[in-house]
Order: sequence, then C-alpha cells, then structure tokens
Amino acid sequence: MNGLMMDYQLTIPSILKRVNQVYPNKRVISKLANEQIHEYTYRDMYKRIIRLMNALKKLGIKPEDRVATFAWNSYRHLELYFAIPSLKAILHTLNIRLFPEQMEFIINHAEDQIIFIDKSLVDVITPLQGKIGKVRNFIVMDDGGKEPSGKLANAIDYEELLSSSLEEECFLQIDENTASALCYTSGTTGEPKGVLYSHRSTYLHSFALCLAGSLAICERDNVLPVVPMFHVNAWAIPYASPMSGANLVFPGPNMLGKSLAELMESYRVTLAAGVPTIWNLLYHHLKNNKHDLASLRAMVIGGSAVPKSLIDNFYKDFGLNIIHAWGMTETSPLGTASILTKEMESLTYNEQLNFKAKQGPPVAGIEIRAIDDDGKEVSWDGKSIGELEVRGPWVAKEYYKNPELKEQFASDGWFKTGDVVCIDENGFMEITDRKKDLIKTRGEWISSVDMENYVMGLKGVLEACAIGRQDNVKDEAPVLYVILSKDAAETIKAKDIYTHLSNKFAHWQLPKLSDIHFVDSIPKTSVGKFDKKELRKRLK
Ligand code: AMP
Repeated sequence: MNGLMMDYQLTIPSILKRVNQVYPNKRVISKLANEQIHEYTYRDMYKRIIRLMNALKKLGIKPEDRVATFAWNSYRHLELYFAIPSLKAILHTLNIRLFPEQMEFIINHAEDQIIFIDKSLVDVITPLQGKIGKVRNFIVMDDGGKEPSGKLANAIDYEELLSSSLEEECFLQIDENTASALCYTSGTTGEPKGVLYSHRSTYLHSFALCLAGSLAICERDNVLPVVPMFHVNAWAIPYASPMSGANLVFPGPNMLGKSLAELMESYRVTLAAGVPTIWNLLYHHLKNNKHDLASLRAMVIGGSAVPKSLIDNFYKDFGLNIIHAWGMTETSPLGTASILTKEMESLTYNEQLNFKAKQGPPVAGIEIRAIDDDGKEVSWDGKSIGELEVRGPWVAKEYYKNPELKEQFASDGWFKTGDVVCIDENGFMEITDRKKDLIKTRGEWISSVDMENYVMGLKGVLEACAIGRQDNVKDEAPVLYVILSKDAAETIKAKDIYTHLSNKFAHWQLPKLSDIHFVDSIPKTSVGKFDKKELRKRLK
C-alpha cells in the first residue's frame, strides 16, 4: 500500500550513535574488583567501542560468530554489549555462577570463538581449557582483581588490543531481525536452553524500559543495575540507559549492602535493579548504618517473588519505593511491572501494598493470558488460576539450535511460562507458584511462594524456602527451611513459625513441626534464586 512510514531498522548501533550525538557528556561509573572507581563519558565509551569493533574484525570475527563475555558489571562489559552486535556478531553473556559442566556445555553448544574475561574470573575458566574446542582466544580485562593462579592459552590484554587498533568507524547495514545476543536460561529445569535476541527485540524492549508505565528510565536518572550483565542482559538496562541519556553506575563484583549503599549515596542513584536476596542484604545494612538515599526514586526487584514484608519494611523504615517486576530469559526479560494507577492512589496503604506485591500488569507491547488445566483462558477476576502465557515482540519463538523443544511454545503463537498465576480486574498479575513448585496435598494446592513470603514476614526471619516432600497420607507435605537472624536464633522455635503460619494457612496446609528446619544457608541457583531442585535432592 502507498503512503506508509519508512522502513527504518531498529538496531543496537543506532542507540550507540544517538548517545554519542545527544548525550556525549553523560557518565558511566564503574566500581572495579579492587574497589577503585573508573569514570568516563559516553563520548569516551563511543571512541573505545569503535576501536573494539576494529579489533574484533582484525581477530577475524564475522557476522553470526558468537563472542562470549565472562565478566562483572562494568564499563568494559558495556563496550562489548555494543561492539559485538554492531558487527552483526552475537554477544553471548556467560553466567559466571554456573557449574563447570554446565559452562562447558553452553560454550560448546554456542560454539563461542572468543571469550572476553575479567582478570578476577580467570581462575574459574582455566580448568575448562581443552574442553571448549572452538574458543581460539581469551581477551583478559584487567579489573584490578588479584592475579590468577592459572594461565590462559592465547590470551590477549584488552587494553593492548584497543590501543593497537584503529579509531575508524566501520558500521555495517544491519537488518533489524539480525541476531544480536544469546543468553542461556539458568536451568532450574533440564538442560540450559539458549535464547537468541535480535536487534529489533532488544531495541523495542529497551524502549519499554523507558515508558512511564514501566521503569520510566530517562535522562535525569542515575541507574545502578545490580542485576548481572551475565544474566538476561541485565534486564536491558545497559541499552535503555544510553538510549535515554541516563548515567550508569556499575557495581562490579561487590554486591554487599555496604558497597551498594555507598555507591547509591555517592552517585545519587535514582533507580536500582536486582533480585530480592540483594535487597534483603541492603535492607539489613541500612537498618544498622546511616546513608542518605533521598535521590533513589525506586528499586526494581524481580527474578523471584518479592515478599510483601520487604516492600513494606523498605517503605516504612526508609521511605524507599519498590517496583516489583516479572520476567524470564525468554521474555528479554521485562514482562510486567507493578506500577500503581492514578485511581489506586486513593486506596489505603495496605490496599496499595497488596497491589505492589503483585507482579503487575503487562508492559505495553506484551500480552498475557492464563490458561487452566482444560486449556481454557481463565477470567481476570483476581481468583481464577491458570498457567501464564505471554506473547510480544521481545518474547522467544523457539530455542537456539533446539527447534524440536516445542513443549513451551503453544501452537497459536503464545509462550507457556510455567508460572501459575491469577490476574485481577485491573490486569495485575500475581504469581502463585512455578508449576513444578506447587505443593499438592490431598489433591489441593499449596503455594510454596505464599508460605515462604508469609514466613519471611515474621520479624527475625531472614530467608524461608518451602518444598514438597512425598507423604503416604497427604501425597505431598510442605517442608520449610528457615534462616534466622543472629538475634532471633535463641527466641524463635519451630512452634512459633507454626503458630505464625496458622494465622493465614488452613490446618491441612501447615507443615509438621518436624518439617520446619532451621538452617545456616539455603542453596541458591546461579542467579540467586532458591535452588529447589537441589533442596529436593538433599531431602531425598
Ligand atoms: P529466569 O529465566 O532464570 O530469569 O527465570 C524466570 C522465572 O523466574 C520466571 O518464570 C518466574 O518463575 C521467576 N520470576 C521472575 N520474576 C519473578 C517475580 N517477580 N516473582 C516471582 N517469580 C519471578
């Protein structure tokens, strides 16, 4: 049809060119492994990215080649985020917390050719040498970490590579549907699966982070992505921030409460993002130490359910606002964000809290629905429960080099998330559980997430995790693992947890006293979620 709009391609280098033209003096601040601060402008970044692109070309990187990173959140990782896709190659962010066998599997499956690695992480990779056949070079980035004990073959220093390279622009024409980045799911179920993002999906997803009805990232922001750049593109914050002209503050390897609070205070951070365990640590640090965090407009929390008590405590104790968001590797990840509507402002504090604790409505661009066991869509009534399905321009339509894995892809173009949810009249979605994590007792479901969050609301409880145990009478019975604070260790007993739970849960849902275990730690997955698979194994 005549008279239509331009066929403009949505690509990652267009974000890069814009930040250099429009916001050249905005800043990128990085804390390094030796606790020192590195600071430069987007203009400096741009020049180094041009050099890096030339260096990659000299190393023989061609379109569709996979180039991996094994690094903390820092300016060099950001340079790689732009340089690799700008050459039509594929940025493969390796998760540094995986087990060696999984890492080996992923590197070989992706057929990575080069790995860019932080010096402080070299010792994690050296044992894999000889098992990762296609990797021909390691580029070591000196992040001030301690000298590695092992040696990498064919290693090149990142800074030497850049200084010996040209500063001549070498941008390519890129079709927006070209692959830009690859990330493997953390594999709480089965073998890791690769999700391949495109320039278009990344561009649109970054736009979504800037919408006022989502994270509203804008030029006035100083954004601290604590969520690692090795997991789902750090929720695309490294793209959305330059896109909108926001300053970036990278935390490096130190994600303890003290370090984060100091960064937030020194660099007047306005928006921070990470998983609940990180913010739990921050909360406890803030309880005992004074910091001026008045600049912070919101902390985005996702990756696991945020206990309502954490949202409440942050607000009541420090006036800090939490945005609860939901997403998956397969959804780039942003799917929903719990931003209250104007109408909700007239609700009571507790009513608002109930909405904030939900995962929220879909962000513009994403559609959601919940499907029951009979395959029917359930109504948005705040009661009916079904499996969440999503679709949109930044949702995967298949797995990388695994098109036969069809189970999660519905034939009518929706992605089956495996999360069990209910959606209310306002479109606010609430996860009641992962499908496999629901505990089924005498044919009735118990939400392990509900139970965990409720126990974590008890003063003195730091963490709580619930799984099901096979039981002859009940089918499955809930088992609770609880970590107490030092002060509470003497005072809180299994009976107190039981009594607390009985305020909310029916008698048949309660764990036996002997199934409430006090522990020093709970196993976590590589991205900091409770590792229920491992707990179940231990329980057996
Ligand atoms: P991953 O692909 O490793 O990021 O894991 C995605 C899964 O994490 C989702 O399917 C959910 O089960 C879980 N998840 C992510 N965000 C949330 C959230 N805000 N609340 C509860 N679970 C979440």
